[in-house]
Formats: sequence, structure tokens, C-alpha cells
Amino acid sequence: MLLGEFTLIDRYFRVPAEALSRARGDVVLGIGDDAALLQVPEGMQLVAALDTLVAGKHFPHGTSPESLGHRALAVNVSDLAAMGANPAWFLLALTLPEADPAFLQPFSHGMLRLAAQHSMALVGGDTTSGPLSVSVQAMGFTAGGAALRRDSASPGDLVFVSGTPGDAAAGLLLEMNRRSNYELAPDHEQWLRRRFLFPEPRVVLGVALRGIASACIDVSDGLAADAGKLAVASGCGLRIDVERLPLSAALRAMHATNLDEASRMALTGGDDYELCFTVPPARAEQLRLQLSNVKCGVTCIGTLDAAPALQVLRAGMPFACDMRGFDHFTVRG
Ligand code: ADP
Ligand code: MG
Repeated sequence: MLLGEFTLIDRYFRVPAEALSRARGDVVLGIGDDAALLQVPEGMQLVAALDTLVAGKHFPHGTSPESLGHRALAVNVSDLAAMGANPAWFLLALTLPEADPAFLQPFSHGMLRLAAQHSMALVGGDTTSGPLSVSVQAMGFTAGGAALRRDSASPGDLVFVSGTPGDAAAGLLLEMNRRSNYELAPDHEQWLRRRFLFPEPRVVLGVALRGIASACIDVSDGLAADAGKLAVASGCGLRIDVERLPLSAALRAMHATNLDEASRMALTGGDDYELCFTVPPARAEQLRLQLSNVKCGVTCIGTLDAAPALQVLRAGMPFACDMRGFDHFTVRG
């Protein structure tokens, strides 16, 4: 049976989200009025981000609703993480072809489970009918002046990435069933699919990097392109050493006959939601100490230079890879 708009909001969003709002103590008024009333803590800056996922653009038609709910929030929490913010609240704009409980139940579950992991409250939104599309606006805090930005790195800074980039792009390929050339062990295949379907935004890492990283960006359009954006915003050149890329065992296994392809996927594949950040060499030891209780690994993959070139090198020689990243309005030949 299909539901009415208000029953839908109540059942799948207002009621299950209530406990999270109450637990936070800073939601003066949540879902139900014309707008939410939110209390920003004294001395903190509000950090806000919004991202939209459109069916057929950002995920294949037929993606599991649980994954879609998770990813729609995760991509926004990842933006907060890249700013070094503590996540707090979010709003959800949902456009649905029909109000189908078989979609809404797992969608809401996937989204609110991730929200609970980060103590985030859903405080409002909008529900309309139309082609499937999900927009989330996430908000968080940093102490004034402590946010991580992408324009504040300097030449000589070391460039790091968290986790194992490229996995999500590999997982998406598997999800789209273009897998005839790959004979993967089931645990490797499951790992790669999970990395696309259920990315873990690096919130703990982002907060730990405050006061240590000179700049930070989250990797959504491909590592080389996003690291390049950080370098350009900071007025620097970038050098990435292919040998240093942290490739997962599963990604290596998928490209066992051509490891260059695994490196290319790590450099250009989208949807990683890892953090790419820079650290002045003098703070490298402080970084090592600070990261002892952060569970995702981080790897130094290169350096920023004074000369404004973007280079990907292997054994000092240029490595062929597309640095441009994903762009919705550019048609690639
Ligand atoms: P209005 O017409 O005043 O914009 P709506 O009827 O659209 O209000 O929404 C009623 C309440 O439900 C509002 O508080 C709104 O923030 C909330 N809401 C609507 N859709 C969602 C959703 N998908 N998730 C969470 N809250 C929602
Ligand atoms: Mg409305």
C-alpha cells in the first residue's frame, strides 16, 4: 500500500529520528514545524554542506535503498569531516516516484543508522514526488578558526590520503555487473562492493587533524583530481608518487594481471570519501602520535611544490592518468 506524505514523514523520519534529537540536547525544535530551531554552542562556527544524489547519475538504478540512505548522508558527513568539523544535524530533501514502504523502510534505516553512529539528528526536510533524487544538508561545528580548508597548504608540505582509494570505483564496476574479466575471491569482492555501497566518512580523522594538517579535502571525484584541487587552491604544484599509493589487497587482486590499472583506479576512481590532506614536514611526528587512535590508516603519497605543475610520477617518470576527475557538465570524448 502507498502512503500519504505526512504518514510517510512521521513513520520513516520523524518518529525514528526523535531519540537522536532528544539525545543531542541542542535541537530546540525539530521535525514538525515550518523550520527547525537549533542551538549552536557558544564560540563555535557552524559548518554546512549539501550534496544531491540523482538516480542513474550518482548511483545505478536499482541500488539497494539501504545503501542509498547511507550514502546520501555519508557524502555530506565526509564534507564535514574534510573541514575537521564535528557533525551535528541534517536536513533531507527526498523526491520519490512513489511512497513505497519497501523502499522507505530500508532507506530510512540505512540513513538513520549512520546518523546514530555520528550522533547526528535529522531536524527537517522536504518530501516531493518525481524522479528519485536525494539531497542532504549536513551541519556541524568547529571552534572558531580551527576548520581545515583546502587553500592553506604551502610548498614542501607532505600529501597524505586515508584508507585505500580506488576500492569504491572497483565496487561500483562490480555492482554494475561489468565483472566478466575478474575472478575475485568472495571476501575481496564483498570488500570492494561494501566500499562503494557503505563508505565510512572519516570524521574521527578529520577532527584529529585539526591543528596538524595545513589543508584538507575529501576525495569524491578521484584522488588525483581532488588532490589537484587542493594544490591549486593553495597556489602550489603537486607531485604524486604512484609507488606510494595504498592499494587494498582486493583492488590488487582485481587487477592481478595489470597493477597499473589498480593504480589508475586509485588515482581516478570516484566515490572514495577518503580524506586527502597536507602536513608540514615539521609536524609529521605530531601526526604519527595523533593518529595512534584513528582506525583508518593514512599514507604519504607525495608532496606539494612551489612550481604550479600537477605531476603523477612512477620512478620519476610521468605516469599516464586522467587528472580531470568527474565533472557533470563536461562531455568526454
Ligand atoms: P512546510 O509545508 O511548512 O514546508 P512540510 O509539510 O513540507 O512543511 O513538512 C512538514 C515538516 O516535516 C517540516 O518540519 C519538515 O521539515 C519535515 N519534513 C518534511 N519532509 C521531511 C523528510 N523527508 N525528512 C525529515 N523531515 C521532513
Ligand atoms: Mg516543505
